[in-house]
Amino acid sequence: MKKIICRELAKFDCDFEAIGETSDEVTDKIFTHAETIHQKEMATMPEEGKIRLVEKMNEILDKQEPLTNL
Ligand SMILES: [Zn+2]
Repeated sequence: MKKIICRELAKFDCDFEAIGETSDEVTDKIFTHAETIHQKEMATMPEEGKIRLVEKMNEILDKQEPLTNL
């Protein structure tokens, strides 16, 4: 199981948790969330900030155990 809390990634004061079985699933959920809930912040975020956000996300997900090893 992999999980990311919105506030871990950005300075948003937000408790949203994206939970999934794979990194892709979690990444999908957090992007959908960011694009809807943090639309304004994302629109003004510099490209560099977005790249750092994705790096941070991968870093967190890499440390977490996948639910199953197929
Ligand atoms: Zn959020």
